[in-house]
Amino acid sequence: MKKKISMSLASRVEHLPPYLFASIDRMKQQAIKKGIDLIDLSIGDPDLPTPSLIVDAMKKAVEKPSNHRYPSYEGMLSFRESVAGWYKKRFGVKLDPNGEVLSLIGSKEGIGHIPLAFVNPGDFVLVPSPGYPVYATGTLFAGGKSYIMPLREENSFLPDLESIPKKVLQGSKLLFVNYPNNPTSAIAPTSFFKEVIRIALKYNIIVCHDASYTEIYFGEKPLSFMQIPGAKLVGIEFHSLSKTYNMTGWRIGFAVGNSKVLEGLGKIKTNLDSGVFQAIQEAAIAAFHMDSRDLAWIRNTYKVRKDILHAGLTRLGLHAVNPSATFYIWAKVPPRYNSMKFVNLMLREAGVLITPGNGFGEAGEGFVRFALTAEENRIREAVERMTEIL
Ligand SMILES: *Cc1c(COP(=O)(O)O)cnc(C)c1O
Repeated sequence: MKKKISMSLASRVEHLPPYLFASIDRMKQQAIKKGIDLIDLSIGDPDLPTPSLIVDAMKKAVEKPSNHRYPSYEGMLSFRESVAGWYKKRFGVKLDPNGEVLSLIGSKEGIGHIPLAFVNPGDFVLVPSPGYPVYATGTLFAGGKSYIMPLREENSFLPDLESIPKKVLQGSKLLFVNYPNNPTSAIAPTSFFKEVIRIALKYNIIVCHDASYTEIYFGEKPLSFMQIPGAKLVGIEFHSLSKTYNMTGWRIGFAVGNSKVLEGLGKIKTNLDSGVFQAIQEAAIAAFHMDSRDLAWIRNTYKVRKDILHAGLTRLGLHAVNPSATFYIWAKVPPRYNSMKFVNLMLREAGVLITPGNGFGEAGEGFVRFALTAEENRIREAVERMTEIL
């Protein structure tokens, strides 16, 4: 048969910016093919194993036939109660397991879907740059327009909400914020969250706080947006077990907060997915029952790595933020480079793979992100190799 059909992509897919991590992956494969001993500091995926207590709970749960059927859409009551218990213990925040907690197939799933529930074509969504790419792609898929809020170092990597034109605020449906922040590692003070709530109430904007990194900290414990009075009136918080418990592959997260907002997100989800495998929810319950002290080894591991890398970068004359949370170091590239040129140089000459800052949005140009997801001796080696070429 000669005749073919065109298979042309829908414009919402054609208009996607190239997915940063896919092109990084291609560069990585090429380097490996060439036989380069690659040190990969590019991807936000913990190299540490899931704690064995969680794995053991999963083994038991997977054998139960009652877990083999379709799960409930919003998550098992026992899962939602555990989330509420964990929020109470960790943040002092009270949540109603019926209506204020929703299970997600990873927080990415919820972040990607929420614009479908609330954004009409032409509506604005306020999106940080640099930022997690899904805020903007979810917006694009819903026909919304991203209004970019640059995160600048001189403003402690917080968006300048004052500078957003009134017209944009009036036409905005959602506001995405993320602290502790990927990729800049910044944390937000109470005063910032209060300002967010004030703006949200004034302009009728739903706040979506992405809190994936609250448990990866090296000093003071980061805040939940839900700790701020009024937060529950204006929005929700996305959370995840991925980073806290080294569970990126398990695909489980959740959203908490305003029940109307969660109901909207739930409407999209019930029509697209059928919830999280119950065995995984039972494993997550075991995770929530762990003491935060049981996770100290995870934080300590990242802290040791962070101190080595931050000291190394500083010796090299690179200006880098010393993170107090997350497993990323956000560093300025030397003046004669741009992000991509620097990443290429590091890959070709040092065999060190890092992420170009502009991949997180234009405001990330001039920066690179190092992920602390490789062993200590590999990070030492990376510093040595970079020292040789710079
Ligand atoms: C890793 C990450 C997520 C997604 O985590 P899930 O594995 O989908 O739960 C969401 N937001 C940010 C900022 C992240 O870095």
